[in-house]
Amino acid sequence: GDRTPELPGTRTTCGYCGVGCSLDVLTGGDSVTAVLPARDGPVNRGHACVKGRFAHGFLRSPDRLTRPLLRRDGRLEPVSWEEALDHVARELRAAVAAGGPGAVAAISSARATNEENYLLQKFMRTVIGTNSVDNCSRLCHAPSAAGLTAAFGLPGGTDPFEDVESADCLLLVGANPVEAHPVVGARLLQRVLRGARLVVADPRAVGLARHADVHLRPRPGTNVALFHAMAHVMLAEGLIDEEFLRERSAGLPELTALLAGYSPERTAAVTGVPAADVVAAARLFGLAERPAILYGLGVTEHLHGTDGVRALSNLAILRGAVGTGRGFGVNPLRGQNNVQGASDMGALPDLLPGYGKVTDADARLRAERVWGVLVPPRPGLRIPEMFAAARSGELRALWILGEDVCATDPDSNQVVQALESCPLVICDELFLSETARRADVVLPAASWLEKDGTFVNFDRRFQRVRAALAPPGAARPDFEIIHAVAAALGADLGCATPAEALTECGRIAPVFAGLSHERLDREGAVPWPCRHPDRPGESSLYRERFATPDGLAHLSAAPYLPPGEEPDDRYPLVLVTGRRWAHYNSGGMTRRTDNLLLDPTDRLDVHPVDASRHRLGDGDRVTVRSRHGEAHLTVQVSDDMTPGQVFCAFHFPASGVNALTSDRGDAATSCPEYKVTAVRLLAG
Ligand code: SF4
Repeated sequence: GDRTPELPGTRTTCGYCGVGCSLDVLTGGDSVTAVLPARDGPVNRGHACVKGRFAHGFLRSPDRLTRPLLRRDGRLEPVSWEEALDHVARELRAAVAAGGPGAVAAISSARATNEENYLLQKFMRTVIGTNSVDNCSRLCHAPSAAGLTAAFGLPGGTDPFEDVESADCLLLVGANPVEAHPVVGARLLQRVLRGARLVVADPRAVGLARHADVHLRPRPGTNVALFHAMAHVMLAEGLIDEEFLRERSAGLPELTALLAGYSPERTAAVTGVPAADVVAAARLFGLAERPAILYGLGVTEHLHGTDGVRALSNLAILRGAVGTGRGFGVNPLRGQNNVQGASDMGALPDLLPGYGKVTDADARLRAERVWGVLVPPRPGLRIPEMFAAARSGELRALWILGEDVCATDPDSNQVVQALESCPLVICDELFLSETARRADVVLPAASWLEKDGTFVNFDRRFQRVRAALAPPGAARPDFEIIHAVAAALGADLGCATPAEALTECGRIAPVFAGLSHERLDREGAVPWPCRHPDRPGESSLYRERFATPDGLAHLSAAPYLPPGEEPDDRYPLVLVTGRRWAHYNSGGMTRRTDNLLLDPTDRLDVHPVDASRHRLGDGDRVTVRSRHGEAHLTVQVSDDMTPGQVFCAFHFPASGVNALTSDRGDAATSCPEYKVTAVRLLAG
């Protein structure tokens, strides 16, 4: 049949984005010679993008860290693992002695495997005795978890990506999958070319927007008003599923009362979207038999990101397009390769593996029975709170697993200050990143091509990650590093192998109880919930009941609230940040590959009207200044932009893009408002 013939390579899962493409990695000597997309890959079906396929040159970059580094007299110097671990153990003990377990925190990684995330949160909870462990979903999809849980009961996308193939209308919001999730982008385009209608809501005219039946271009920060306006039209024109609303939802009277004030004509003044476009979009979505909602960080990374996820979920509920088989529900396109899994594994300050609350005695008991120690009952610090605690002197040790927080977290000047104020910063890294260069101890880590475990992709599938090569020099997988730090403190974390760690996680979290490496080796991909080794995973989260306490889907009647920043005379433009196709996040890996030839620098996209007003042209250098800091970029004049808005990526830390963004965050989740920053441009 269609199976890829037996290859002398290693089958693994791409470590770049949340699509989770299956790849066959061929090696010769100590190098990768080719990466082939697997034809039987459940999501990619023989496709891959320029990142997964070609961005592996970083593995043998001369910049790779191959020995631990320890700061002495202000300089990072190579030391043995023994010396590094002795130092870490001594300083962690000193931090706990001085400030208690709450003086230590850890930032886990959406790039690390599930098993590494599981082990780090177990280390923090059982060895240090604190819940202060978080991961970078805090900065991207935390509002998805909060919003989807409030609406439907569980923090994952509602349906499998295959269902898009049968959708007759796609509503794509705040996402540019052609660049950020290219294989998904290509499959969506195929679906549109074969007849599905497409509504895109995005301020920029990028990617699939060019193929949309309706392209809504809301002012950044006004999503909630836009979604409410669409809901207003659906209610007014009867484009709703009355039986579903009566039997399986809650909150319709409150929402109906709220929506009276959200006519498309009225909201146009806020969103900038013409009323006729809102009506057209609402009709396409409301009249579709099987509508699908996919969205990205353009929905979540706002001051009211959780409200945005909920207002978007309202549209699926009104239409009865979730939990009924008559639609594809509501599905976030996750950014980093394992951002879903890092949260699934409990690398969160308020949630245990499988999403039991640390405040819930029964959930704690399930973990305590397996771990043999008491779990602290108070939620720990979120990432922004960790930085604030470091600046105020309360946090004495911070362990950062493979995240370049100085490049990717908002208001980076404040982040740098936090690291400089913290007496012990430990950093697991591949390269001397902006963050690693400020650490006290740098531990050389293995990359995704050099370790074993599993990732969870954007539609909740567990897939195996397998080492194609050994890590260089003395670099080690994070799984081994976490064990080694625990051992240096005299603790034994158990679960000696990644396979044992996943099995142990399943004993705590019923939704993962049916998963094992052995099963994944046999079956390829298994979605969660997967409650029993003999039963399949559930690719659709909901059928007869939702997972909310009352079993109903909950509509939200939260009103539109303005964003945290507005342009003014001093800062007249709105900056939106995002990703471009050839690079990945802070670019630590992709900048050290030939992808650099495809896309050699960060650029600022400026509409021709704004460019001429500022007398700027393609290639001009520009200083971008916000209320928080400044960055230096090269101008790219682009018709894709809306006048008054500028766009850039954050793949080149030297540009300093995140010095511009604010650390103001979503009230429910602290997710930063990356998508709305008022700026001004200065030549040079
Ligand atoms: Fe697939 Fe994403 Fe990797 Fe590209 S970056 S190959 S789309 S998983």
